Amino acid sequence: MGYGEAVAGGPLTRAHALELDRGDPLARFRDRFEFGDADRIYVDGNSLGRVSTDARRAMEETVNEWSGRLVTGWHDWIDVPQKVGDLLGQAALGAGPGQVLACDSTTVNLYKLAGAVLAARPGAVVADGDDFPTDRYVLAGLADAGGRELRMLRSDRVAGPQPDAVAVAAAGAALVVLSHVNYRSGALADMRAITAAAQAAGALVLWDLCHSAGAVDVELDAAGADLAVGCTYKYLNAGPGSPAFLYVARRHHDELRSPIQGWFSQADQFAMGPGYRPAAGIGRFMAGTPPVAGLAAVHACAALLAEAGIGAVRRKAVGLTALAVELHDRRLEPLGFTLGTPRDPARRGAHVSLRHPDAWRICQALIEHANVVPDFRHPDSIRIGLPPAYTRFVDVWDACDRLVALMGAGTHLRMPAAAARVT
Ligand SMILES: *Cc1c(COP(=O)(O)O)cnc(C)c1O
Repeated sequence: MGYGEAVAGGPLTRAHALELDRGDPLARFRDRFEFGDADRIYVDGNSLGRVSTDARRAMEETVNEWSGRLVTGWHDWIDVPQKVGDLLGQAALGAGPGQVLACDSTTVNLYKLAGAVLAARPGAVVADGDDFPTDRYVLAGLADAGGRELRMLRSDRVAGPQPDAVAVAAAGAALVVLSHVNYRSGALADMRAITAAAQAAGALVLWDLCHSAGAVDVELDAAGADLAVGCTYKYLNAGPGSPAFLYVARRHHDELRSPIQGWFSQADQFAMGPGYRPAAGIGRFMAGTPPVAGLAAVHACAALLAEAGIGAVRRKAVGLTALAVELHDRRLEPLGFTLGTPRDPARRGAHVSLRHPDAWRICQALIEHANVVPDFRHPDSIRIGLPPAYTRFVDVWDACDRLVALMGAGTHLRMPAAAARVT
């Protein structure tokens, strides 16, 4: 029996949640993360993952190496973006070696890859009007600078972009950019079908995997994907601002060139010659000097994921989100909540979005008065992120229980209505 059925068919008691935890094959990985406040229920690991003790150790080792070796450390550090990229590809992305780099930020990688496609091919850019802001802003900037049309998909806010709509929008386009898992609703796009639809219309597809990497069993090679980017500080737990990754399918390496002609992407980097010639292979998508300590953290987290197995992680994410959906239906809907996430487990990632007209104040009350940490997303969503490596079923139960108690007491009604800068 899968987790989904175990949850939906269960008695939905706290004891049942504890029983699911006892049968959890990933339970032992919880010890590899740091829990300062044992009472705090942290359901915001989809924004910033918890501290991984493996990542902490790897960063400390890098500092020792730096201390011992100083500049000679670069003999080994120089290849780290490729090595970590290969491990990420294998552990999290379903990508064979030589196609993934761990480097820069998601925003910068998006700019590099989208810019590379627009330099190589004519036509419009297709984006999702409901996508994460940085994606929309970067694409608007590139479209403006290159005099390209920017077509915005208007998808259903819960279900996200669908293959048919992408096929229509992609006609005559150079590039389609979409999030695999929507940052607000948690909707999981059909990567295989959408990629095929866009490619049939003549466009390349760039997937943003920020909310998929480490949460969903991504299969870039098998899906025939062209390009992807994503971060490592959400479900991969490599720390605030840890280096991101990019993927370029091998068949596109020769055609595409990064618009950032940095020296780390140069064919013969240390000849330091007068002209720029991009390196062969994935290395041409590097920019400058890689952040070695951050990459050590990404390496440690990718290794942990390889050990846990993305299949097991995905199965547990389905179970955790199924429990959250069940609890919503039975205990939260009567309090005025609606589910902002697809009900089909095959169509959602590892977070659940709860919508409520008073979402902002409820979210603040949860943080300040119930020691439950989710986040708020405009205009009316509370995101409950459930990273499988360290989240227990009983955490989902307790978070819901505290939420019901707080609503019953009207605690949220005493919270100020204004929004803070970072939530
Ligand atoms: C978190 C997130 C980003 C973050 O980009 P940064 O460059 O790391 O700030 C980008 N896209 C999506 C969809 C995200 O969820």
